[in-house]
Amino acid sequence: MTSSARPHLNRRLAEFGTTIFAEMSALAVATGSINLGQGFPDTDGPQEIREAAVRALREGRGNQYPPGPGIPELRTAIAAHQLRRYGLDCDPDTEVLVTAGATEAIAASLLALVEPGDEVVALEPYYDSYAASIAMAGGTRVPVTLRPHEGSFRLDLDELRAAVTGRTRLLLINTPHNPTGTVLTRAELTAIAELAVERDLLVVTDEVYEHLVFGDAEHVPLASFPGMRERTVTIGSAGKTFSFTGWKVGWVTAVPELVSAVRAVKQFLTYVSAGPFQYAVAEALALPDSYFEEFRRSMLARRDILAKGLTEAGFTVFRPAGTYFITTDIRPLGEKDGFAFCRALPERAGVVAIPNAVFYDDREAGAPFVRFAFCKREEVLREAAERLRAL
Ligand code: PMP
Ligand code: GLN
Repeated sequence: MTSSARPHLNRRLAEFGTTIFAEMSALAVATGSINLGQGFPDTDGPQEIREAAVRALREGRGNQYPPGPGIPELRTAIAAHQLRRYGLDCDPDTEVLVTAGATEAIAASLLALVEPGDEVVALEPYYDSYAASIAMAGGTRVPVTLRPHEGSFRLDLDELRAAVTGRTRLLLINTPHNPTGTVLTRAELTAIAELAVERDLLVVTDEVYEHLVFGDAEHVPLASFPGMRERTVTIGSAGKTFSFTGWKVGWVTAVPELVSAVRAVKQFLTYVSAGPFQYAVAEALALPDSYFEEFRRSMLARRDILAKGLTEAGFTVFRPAGTYFITTDIRPLGEKDGFAFCRALPERAGVVAIPNAVFYDDREAGAPFVRFAFCKREEVLREAAERLRAL
């Protein structure tokens, strides 16, 4: 303890206290509520992949510091995945970096690429770590707001173009998008790519939900557009794709100059992480297409159960084309403040959700929106829907 009145957290980070996810998960535990707040599955990923982690531990693979860029088996598997799914050719030795989840990949990328005073254009609502990582890098965030349009949240490309100034260093993109569930279309991605090339911008693209796209929606990596390979840092994570959010295995793919910049920072954040899990994730990435199809099918079924329940409870539902999340509008329930609504929801209905306002600079714009996660067992979603009907 110190008697000084000076706050301990430095000024750049003063606005970032405990994350909303930690706060709401603690509230769910304290009130015994169904936790549809923080996005983590309530069933673990494939048994054979868990066994692969156990085998690695037992056989002493990864129990000591793995190589800085990640174990060769995992880097090779990541490169093979990018090639097999998207036709993107990455050299596992120079163009892949394993990180402590996507969170570290985001932080390391921004710390590596942003100079103090640089502007970073990010889609709003934005995942909370973007704002904190931009601040840690000393950058200035410039949000471009996705707005409701015909049942989903859409990007206004003119607003995006107008947000780019002479000080813009990079575009921070996220598709499929947390929390709105929007999946950027080929046409939107083409426009973003053209803008990046024309203004000579770097792009960091968070594609952790790449395997969670539903119906006609299609995930197309930004790095696959003309002129993008050399300016794009692509971020992935095993947490979402394989339902192991606690393992914290993520990765970056990019050209060697970008990977080595991100690696230079990463080595002083965690140096390395998750040794034995890296072996298991290498096996997971090589699972047959049937795994990915079944995963998507089961998440789609869950999305539909929760969307139906929320609609019946009176929310306006923005049916997501991707991710774990459904964003709703609470105004039809006679509510307008998502924060107050989410704080009262455990008491009123025994359910926890996330107020989207935390993902906005313009808190007013985000106030009426609330996010529910559907990465839970079907019976849990049905029970939550039943409880919400009482509102
Ligand atoms: N990006 C987005 C958009 C996310 O929703 C999350 C949280 N799951 C992350 C990054 C962080 O991923 P990880 O758990 O791999 O750090
Ligand atoms: N990405 C998860 C979400 O949006 C949370 C991860 C975290 O708590 N950092 O719910």
